[in-house]
Amino acid sequence: MRNVKQCGWLVAAALLVPLSLGAQQAANTSAPAQAAPASVQPVSATPGLALVQPAAKVPVSVDQVVDTIIEREHALIQFLKNRTPLVETYLQNLTPNDKLGATPKEDHYFLGRLDMGDTVDRRDYLMKQASFQRSLMGGVTKLFRIQYQPMGFSWMVFADRQNFDRNHYDFHYIHREFLGEVKCLMFEVTPKKNAGVGLFKGTIWVEDQDYNIVRLNGTYVPRPKNAFYFHMDSWRLNLVPGYWIPAYIYSEEGDFSYGSHDKLAFKAQSRIWGYDVSREGREDELTDLKVDSVKDESPVSQDLSPLEAQRAWQQQAEDNVLERLQRAGLLAPQGDVDKVLQTVVSNIEITNNIDLPRPVRARVMVTYPLETFSVGNTIVISRGLIDTLPDEASLAAILSHELAHIVLGHNLGSKFAFTDRMLFSDESTYQNFGFRHNPEEEAAADAKAVELLKNSPYAQKLASPGLYLKQLQARAPELSALLTSHLGNSFTDDKGQVTRLSALMTSAPSLDESKLDQIAALPLGGRIKLDPWQDHVEMIKAAPVSITSARDKMPFEVTPFFPRLTRLGAVAAGDSAAPAGGSGTTTAQNTDAQK
Ligand SMILES: [Zn+2]
Repeated sequence: MRNVKQCGWLVAAALLVPLSLGAQQAANTSAPAQAAPASVQPVSATPGLALVQPAAKVPVSVDQVVDTIIEREHALIQFLKNRTPLVETYLQNLTPNDKLGATPKEDHYFLGRLDMGDTVDRRDYLMKQASFQRSLMGGVTKLFRIQYQPMGFSWMVFADRQNFDRNHYDFHYIHREFLGEVKCLMFEVTPKKNAGVGLFKGTIWVEDQDYNIVRLNGTYVPRPKNAFYFHMDSWRLNLVPGYWIPAYIYSEEGDFSYGSHDKLAFKAQSRIWGYDVSREGREDELTDLKVDSVKDESPVSQDLSPLEAQRAWQQQAEDNVLERLQRAGLLAPQGDVDKVLQTVVSNIEITNNIDLPRPVRARVMVTYPLETFSVGNTIVISRGLIDTLPDEASLAAILSHELAHIVLGHNLGSKFAFTDRMLFSDESTYQNFGFRHNPEEEAAADAKAVELLKNSPYAQKLASPGLYLKQLQARAPELSALLTSHLGNSFTDDKGQVTRLSALMTSAPSLDESKLDQIAALPLGGRIKLDPWQDHVEMIKAAPVSITSARDKMPFEVTPFFPRLTRLGAVAAGDSAAPAGGSGTTTAQNTDAQK
């Protein structure tokens, strides 16, 4: 047990650390006919970034291509070195299950901001994390240090932050292959003999125009004493002209085949985003912004009446909080997903004749843990939660609980109307904000939500949210990290029992994991796609994939990433980032139809 825990922690540490980089230049991506990295007119979408142009070069030999790959990798390292994106890792330790394959045994969650400069630094959003790590570090401090060295981690995002060159590596061309819409050259990369320890070994895919690495798959060799290097599949997206930005990393270890002696088994997803959240001038901008909105949105030219003033004051608090969460990289900017959510909310409002003084808004929190909360008239729901909900009725049920809080006037706190309360570091967001209700309000919201649902277009479809909650209950003991909410109320009580909307569980059919047409909950990652540069979210429109065994269901589970790569500016023919597992889309059409 101790072993496994250490390992789980190590992995996570490994996943989190890496990122740093260095170097420059952008190549022209708007000339797809040319196979040369030359002709560079970098149009930076990012103000304030100085892009250095690479020397014009037309590689003709494999050697020249390799030189360009190395040059581009160093350019990316340089380009990102002043960035401090968020990195989130969600890890599930696995145990074999006769019927369901390898299923989660316990989980861990990490969220932090990375400094991608020369020395890798990470600041955690989760206060508990520090003590969690300390407790696991007892006796393994040394390992921790090994794992924490930038070189030891750079492979997660970069091929090798320090030594990616011909002195340390051999490059062997394999063949051409499409990743999504992008034609790539595949190279096998192996460390030279005695070139050092902890070097990348694996395969890289480079796009065939500028020779940027778009995917890395492999591990680290040789393995040092007392430490592990994990296998890693790392994907980049073309989000900035000339650069492919590290976005997803999947890691997996473990072999449950007969006779295997693997002690370690886990799968983990890491996502990196928030690259373009500026670090400067944030606080001033915030205080300025908010005072105006009250004035602007007032329809009359006189002083507000006492009730109007009270409402304006509450809206100011609401706007402040949303703005601050977005600045901290936790809330996606307003977008199309919000409209889908708002449509579902209005379906419930209309049939219940709910007429509120201000419209209910909905926003997406971009993190994994399953949570919702509302602030003022805005409902916030997490990406992980939307991902795992099987259909629109389930989404409606989850939203109805927060709508009930709004209808019942539970969200009247307005202390955040004072902008000084917004002045804290991003990393301490979870210590400064909290939107939890007391048990009485929770019970009242649940009762009201059921009432609203029974009088809504979803009244005949409440078996699916009930099953979802039952599935959650079945997995709750193994998924405590996923179920730990950070701003809102948890779905479970302190004994790990699912309490949210429990009346729906009571009336739902029984959960049957072997029944293939009963999809109670989806894997993570199947619905929401996040743009790591600007934090925008959108719905993934993937075709349904049929489920052929109980092992395909993977409720709440982590799967590999297989984003459909496209070049920046190209019209996407499909959608990306669907989990390879695939069952995540069986019922996705309902929600789409609402748009
Ligand atoms: Zn609540």
